[in-house]
Amino acid sequence: MKEKKTISKDIHPVKSAKGGIRRGELFNRVNALILSKDKNTQNLFKKLFLEYGHKMKSVNAREEALRIIKQIPFLIVIIDLEMSEVDALEFLKKIREIDENSCIIIVSTHPSVESAVEIIREGGYDYLTKPFASKKIKIVLGRAIERQHLLREAKQKRHYQKLSILDGLTNVYNYRYFREFIEKEISRAKRYNQTFSLSMVDIDDFKKYNDKYGHLSGDKLLKQIASFFVNAVRTADTIFRYGGDEFIILLSMTTKEEALKAAERLQNAIKQNFPLTISIGISNFPEDGGNKASVIKKADLALYQAKHSGRNKICSYAPDKSKRN
Ligand code: GH3
Ligand code: MG
Repeated sequence: MKEKKTISKDIHPVKSAKGGIRRGELFNRVNALILSKDKNTQNLFKKLFLEYGHKMKSVNAREEALRIIKQIPFLIVIIDLEMSEVDALEFLKKIREIDENSCIIIVSTHPSVESAVEIIREGGYDYLTKPFASKKIKIVLGRAIERQHLLREAKQKRHYQKLSILDGLTNVYNYRYFREFIEKEISRAKRYNQTFSLSMVDIDDFKKYNDKYGHLSGDKLLKQIASFFVNAVRTADTIFRYGGDEFIILLSMTTKEEALKAAERLQNAIKQNFPLTISIGISNFPEDGGNKASVIKKADLALYQAKHSGRNKICSYAPDKSKRN
C-alpha cells in the first residue's frame, strides 16, 4: 500500500509554468507502463521493475494508456493482451505512431508463433507468455532496459558530437569541422582521382550593416543568409562558417567551371533576397592546389581579388591575376 502511494505521487504529471508537462522530469521518474486488467500481472512487473530501479505506472484501459503515452515518453511499455490479434496489432501501431522509441513487450495467455512474428514485425520488442517463467521474464526485461539505456546514451552522444561540429550562431558546420572535412575530401579525391572546388564567400560591407542596424540585426541576417545557403546549394555541397561573415562551400566532384556557375546563381539569389551582396573566390583541387593549405589559400586569394575589383564579384583563382601586390 505504501509502495503504491509513492509510485502514484511520482507519476503525477508535473505541470510547467505554461501548464504543459515537463517531459524530461517525468522521464526520470517513471520509466515503464503496463496495460493490464490483471492485478497479479501488474504487481509482478511492478516488483521486477523496482528491482531494476525503475518505476512503473499501471493502467487497465487502452484509451488511458494512449492518453498517458502521449504525455510521457516511457522506456518500456508492457501490453497484456486481452484483445483479438488484429486489435493488438492496431494498438501497437498507434503506440508506435505516438512514441517510436519505447520498447514494447507483449504478454499473452494464448500465444501463437504467427502472432509473435507479426508483433515483432510491427515494432514490438519481445513476446512473453503466461504463466510466466521467472527466468525468462527477468532476461527479457533486463535486456530491454539495457537496450533503452544504451540507446539513450548513444542519442546524447550524437547530440553532443553534433554540437561540437556546428557553428553556434548560424547552425552550419564550423571551422574546426571544415579542417577535418577537407582532409577527408582530399584523401577521397586522391584515391579516386576526383576533383572538388572551394567557394569562399564573404559578405560585402557587413560592418556597415552592423553599424546601421545594430549587431543583433547583423546576427539575425547572418543566420538567415546561412540557412539560405543551405537551401540554395546541392546536397553534395557542404557549407561551413569560416569565421565572421565568411563562409566556405565545398563542392564535391565539381570542376572550377561548374563551381563558377553555382557561385553566380548563389550571388544572384542573395542579391534578390537580401539587402546586401556577397563576393566569392573559387579554387579547385587539384588544379590550383594539391593540399589543404594550398587550395584554401588560392580560394582566399581569389576572394581578395573579388573584393579588390569592387565587391559583388566572383573570381576564380588564376595565378597571375589573384596574387596580392
Ligand atoms: P568587406 O566588404 O571588405 O568584406 O567589408 P566588411 O564590412 O564585411 O568587413 P570584413 O568582412 O573584413 O569584416 C567582417 C565584419 O563582419 C566585421 C564585423 O563587423 C562583422 N561580423 C563578423 N562576425 C559577426 C557576427 O557574428 N555577428 C555580427 N553581427 N557581425 C559580425
Ligand atoms: Mg565582409
